[in-house]
Amino acid sequence: GSTIGILGGGQLGRMLSLAAARLGLKTSVYEPDPNAPAGQVCDKLTTASYDDLDALRAWAADVDVITYEFENIPTDALDALEALKPIHPNRRALAVSQDRLTEKAFLTDLGLKTAPFAAVDDAEDMAEALTEIGAPAILKTRRFGYDGKGQARIKTAEDAEQALADMNGAPAIFEGFVDFSHEVSVIAARGTTGEVACFDPGENVHVNGILHTTTVPARLSAKQRTDAVLLAAQILNKLGYVGVMGVELFVTPQGLVVNEIAPRVHNSGHWTQAGCAVDQFEQHIRAVAGWPLGDGQRYADVVMTNLIGDDAHTWPELAKQPNTQIHLYGKAEARAGRKMGHVNRITKA
Ligand code: ATP
Ligand code: MG
Ligand code: MG
Repeated sequence: GSTIGILGGGQLGRMLSLAAARLGLKTSVYEPDPNAPAGQVCDKLTTASYDDLDALRAWAADVDVITYEFENIPTDALDALEALKPIHPNRRALAVSQDRLTEKAFLTDLGLKTAPFAAVDDAEDMAEALTEIGAPAILKTRRFGYDGKGQARIKTAEDAEQALADMNGAPAIFEGFVDFSHEVSVIAARGTTGEVACFDPGENVHVNGILHTTTVPARLSAKQRTDAVLLAAQILNKLGYVGVMGVELFVTPQGLVVNEIAPRVHNSGHWTQAGCAVDQFEQHIRAVAGWPLGDGQRYADVVMTNLIGDDAHTWPELAKQPNTQIHLYGKAEARAGRKMGHVNRITKA
């Protein structure tokens, strides 16, 4: 059997490993933290730093294909690995999604709508963005942001000054505030032969910048649903993508606006574990292993709720509830804001 190499051993790596095991495939996870969630379920865990290129090369020697569960993999590591084994999704997909400015430029080049944006590195750029785009707006770090971290809302000139100071010189992107009615995401997959399959869009609610629930079906018209799936396919095809991608969208009266893309399985796709014969994790493993894509047709209505921090302690109550699937990631410490697990509740089968 072949071995899938996974960079990153968080909960996404863990659920990818479990899906691979069901298909008779082995997983070898590369992850600095020996207590990371994937370590408990993968076939082999290599604990070394992403800066340790010798360790990376030795790890890659024993895998057939390389994938990843997070997008901030250092360039040097990727250069070393790319020379040895195929990496799916490809470097272009990573480069585009690692930097919010590159990402927005890529999306607008495709003819897709995004928030109005401008690069902001200094006070002069900021003044220009405030004039051209205006407030309300959001200033975001171009790289490394997640769960709403590294973002500041801007309503006034004082906010803008403070937001820029808080960047500490890190390159930033200024985004005009999109007046959306709700947020949805499409989990899309593309196989090695170029076939594309999308899961039904889910509707996302964030609390304190962190995804709280995803509900399917999302509130979308037939046209919006088609638009969402077609634009996702456009993105994957343009990138020559192989694997699963999460595409976050704002729903507005003027149409769908792309917020960001994630070149990996996505938290807003966890509902597929209870709503589809083939979930996003199996779909990703199928794609990177060169299998045909599976049938991701939705056969149930589902609400996925994240268990954040102390929420995880409610599991004994949740375990008594009907139509409820519980996923716990095996993290020892329930720190505030930490994703500890999730619950998929089937609301209509
Ligand atoms: P994730 O954990 O999804 O990777 P992130 O830190 O990359 O999050 P974004 O997805 O860019 O952050 O933004 C987080 C949330 O902030 C969005 O889901 C949306 O609710 C709000 N938001 C971000 N950008 C805009 C915008 N331009 N206009 C309006 N709301 C926005
Ligand atoms: Mg993000
Ligand atoms: Mg986001």
